[in-house]
Amino acid sequence: MLLQEQRELVVEYGKKLVTTGLTDGTFGNLSVFDRESGLMAISPSGMDYFLTTPEDVVVTDLEGKVVDGKRKPSSELDLHRLFYQRRQDVTGVVHTHSTFATVLSCLRWPIEPVHYLVAYAGRQVPCIPYYPFGSLELAEAAWEGMKDQYNACLLGNHGLLAVGGSLSFAFDAAQQLEFLAKVYYYTKQAGGGINLTAEELEAVLGKFQSYRQA
Ligand SMILES: [Zn+2]
Repeated sequence: MLLQEQRELVVEYGKKLVTTGLTDGTFGNLSVFDRESGLMAISPSGMDYFLTTPEDVVVTDLEGKVVDGKRKPSSELDLHRLFYQRRQDVTGVVHTHSTFATVLSCLRWPIEPVHYLVAYAGRQVPCIPYYPFGSLELAEAAWEGMKDQYNACLLGNHGLLAVGGSLSFAFDAAQQLEFLAKVYYYTKQAGGGINLTAEELEAVLGKFQSYRQA
């Protein structure tokens, strides 16, 4: 079986998406990229995470062509492959419909740096306009909104996208940014919040850089 290790990771983290409350049912999707072979392992479309086995995980090339696997790949295939194609530092992608991130995406509120965990994404968490799910337009807009400046963004009226140097980092980012989205929402409800200064933000980003490389 091609990319066995990566397929096992997709299964493991798929279950974690449900157990940590980041997704309900079959929503959301995740992938791991193997730069050596140029192939990615991506969750199958519309399948229960607890019934998914490594054989169900689909292996595709970066054009989106299925190379191994009997299932249909996630409908958000483009959202994953564009980041592997265009960023050398990305090998894991997670997409969720977690509650507070989705609420903010419907409000079209980018998340300001009110809490240091924003550093998982960058200097803020940008929010892109709405595009139909599973479309190349959505993937291109997410890329435009993030490029190599951000590791996450809110997809307008939809949910959250997080990328990272590993699936584990992308997953942590999705989890911590859901917490941040909740904090930001309540902070706004309470009348505002104090943003970190540019200096404070740079210091946190520097720490995150060394933490990520450790
Ligand atoms: Zn979605």
